[in-house]
Amino acid sequence: MEASKSRLLHRSLREAPPKAVGGDGVWLIAEDGRRILDASGGAAVSCLGHQHPRVLEAITRQASKLAFAHTGFFSSEPAEALAEALVGDEPGGLAYAYLVSGGSEAIEASIKLARQYFAESGQPQRHRFIARRQSYHGNTLGALAAGGNAWRREPYAPLLSAAFSHVTPAFAYHEKRDSESETDFVTRLAAELEAEFQRLGPDTVAAFIAEPVVGATAGCVPAPEGYFRAVREICNRHGALLILDEVMCGMGRTGTRHAWEQEGVAPDIQAIAKGLGGGYQPIGAMLAGGRIIDAIRQGSGAFQHGHTYLAHPLACAAALEVQRVIDDEHLLDRIQDLGRQLERRLTERFGNHRHVGDIRGRGLFQAIELVADRASRTPFDPALKLHQRIKAAALEGGLACYPSGGTLDGRSGDHVLLAPPYIATSDDIDMIVDRLGHAVDLALKSVG
Ligand code: PLP
Repeated sequence: MEASKSRLLHRSLREAPPKAVGGDGVWLIAEDGRRILDASGGAAVSCLGHQHPRVLEAITRQASKLAFAHTGFFSSEPAEALAEALVGDEPGGLAYAYLVSGGSEAIEASIKLARQYFAESGQPQRHRFIARRQSYHGNTLGALAAGGNAWRREPYAPLLSAAFSHVTPAFAYHEKRDSESETDFVTRLAAELEAEFQRLGPDTVAAFIAEPVVGATAGCVPAPEGYFRAVREICNRHGALLILDEVMCGMGRTGTRHAWEQEGVAPDIQAIAKGLGGGYQPIGAMLAGGRIIDAIRQGSGAFQHGHTYLAHPLACAAALEVQRVIDDEHLLDRIQDLGRQLERRLTERFGNHRHVGDIRGRGLFQAIELVADRASRTPFDPALKLHQRIKAAALEGGLACYPSGGTLDGRSGDHVLLAPPYIATSDDIDMIVDRLGHAVDLALKSVG
């Protein structure tokens, strides 16, 4: 459908996407009746697939009792229960949950909490944030300023706060020199971060912010061994906070509830969203360490922030049930098993492919990166829009995956991100790789 015939503003102002009219586990149903295998849950959202009966039931039950109560006046049962489920056992010292409506809101809250903490604990000069290039932290102006994704930032650059600076990402495929070991690479990145602290003035930095496994902008990039321990040490030494953005890679996606569990470090503040509510309701959360909240409690006594739909009862009821299903059905174990299968199958199918330069990820969060030339890691010409061709060919072949294109700095090329639902079967994983292989070959043929 032409977008001009729709009153709804779509991402593309030229073409409206087809309508999805139904869902059934790992399948999405399009208006023409076609069943599309959902291999990425949108953007790593639908972790329990579609129309999970327990989650639908929980939403209906809550809706019949109470759909909304403003947090300026009331708390609610599902909000209290969700916070308890998320931080009742204080994972890594995270003791409080602030419930918002999505990932960008969780990041905004994280940035503001870090700032307010220092403003109220005798260090008002700490107002700077260090982030990484090729990161994505959301699309609101604060989150966009934190993100290091060149093309998303460019049109809004004059509006983005100069309080954010960016260092080299821990992206071994593009940033590690061939002559360098992984350890040397980590040492070099740590030295660069240390130098950035020194350049800004270490006691002016409030926090370093990073995704443990980079999602949308780079395609499932985990950091090399030891990177986050080095980063944590630098933050500790300078008295800055570590904010981890697990909006995409968190809530089980990489095989542990929090991706940071695999790094041996815990953040001071964490943002989660997507897999928290599995797409059944819009919800995100900021998780914060006890000492940060206690300092503000003893200071002004209130987090100076808020939105109308904080801790929305329906969203909380949905997220609580999503998390209970994950626990009851031992889905973390399943993610690890299926993740190994997905990685193996991708390696079999693409390991020797002349245009697949890298296969990477963790758990059910895996990506392939397409290159024009494997030896030199040269990306395809962005004008070819290879990722869009793959997306279209995949959809045509009954597969929804999440391809993205290169960034303006030209360092990373087209990649395809896969984030299948945790309830997928082994056969589903095989079908995802088969269909993706077919789509990639078709798209490559179309660019010659
Ligand atoms: N942070 C990361 C790592 C993300 O991947 C995203 C969304 O893709 C966001 C933040 C923003 O989340 P939302 O789109 O829910 O605002």
